[in-house]
Amino acid sequence: MLTTPEKRRITLIDTHAHLDSPDYQEDRAAVIARAFSESIGVITIGINLQSSEEAAALAKRHRLIWAAVGVHPHNATTIDESGIARLEELAQEKKVVAVGEIGLDYYRDLSPRKVQRHVFSLQLDLAAELHCPIIIHNRESTSDLLAILRHHGSSHRGVIHSFLGDRALAEEFLALGFHLGIGGPLTFAKNGTLRSAVKSIPLERVLVETDSPYLTPVPYRGKRNEPGYVRYVAEALAQIKEISAAQVEEETTKNAIELFSKLSQVS
Ligand SMILES: [Zn+2]
Repeated sequence: MLTTPEKRRITLIDTHAHLDSPDYQEDRAAVIARAFSESIGVITIGINLQSSEEAAALAKRHRLIWAAVGVHPHNATTIDESGIARLEELAQEKKVVAVGEIGLDYYRDLSPRKVQRHVFSLQLDLAAELHCPIIIHNRESTSDLLAILRHHGSSHRGVIHSFLGDRALAEEFLALGFHLGIGGPLTFAKNGTLRSAVKSIPLERVLVETDSPYLTPVPYRGKRNEPGYVRYVAEALAQIKEISAAQVEEETTKNAIELFSKLSQVS
C-alpha cells in the first residue's frame, strides 16, 4: 500500500481529473483540499501543451497530485514538432506518470481525423520510447483506434479512460493488455450495458476515475465534478462486484500504482 512520508495511507486515486480546468479557477485550492482531507490522490491530465505544463506544475506543488502530459484529439491541430519535444521533456519529470490524454474522437470531430490519427501515433511513439504508460480517449472511433494500437504492437501499457462499452469491447481492450478506467457513468440509472461489462472485467484491470469537472456521479449528477467524488464510483463498483468498498479502494489503488509506477515514488 502506498504511504506518504507521514505514513498516511492513500484511500483512493482518482486516475483522471482535469484540475487545470477553468471550472476550478475560483476554488481550486478548496477542491484539492477536500480530496486530500479524504486521503484521495489525483492524477491530473493534460489536454494540450499548455494544460500539460499546468498539470506538471500542479503535481510539483502538491504531494498527492501526479500528472499526465499529452494532446487530446480535440486539440490535435495545436501541436507541432517543438511541442512534441517539450512533451518529451515533461514526460520525464518525476511526478509525470503517463502520456495522456491521447486518442481519437470521431464524435465531435474537432480536429480532422487524419490529423488526430497522426498526432495519436506520434504520442504512442513517444510513450514507447520513454516506456511510459498511456491514457487513451476513444469516442466513436473504436475500429481506427484498435487498428492503430495493433499496428504499434504490444509495447504499450495503459488505460482506456472513461470506458463505456459492452462486454465484447472490454474483452478486446483487456486482450491488448489495457486497463479500463471506470467513472461517474457507472452510477447512472440507465447504464445496464456498462454495468454488465464491469461485472465481467477482472477487478485487477480496473481503475477508478472522475474525469472532473465532467461526468459527475450520482448523487451530484448535473453539478460540477471533483476528485473527491471518486468515492461514489468506488461504491458503485463495490455494489456491482458484490465486495466491500474497502476492497475496491485497496485493489484499485494497487492497480494504479502498478500501472503508473512513478506513483510509488512519493517524495
Ligand atoms: Zn479527460
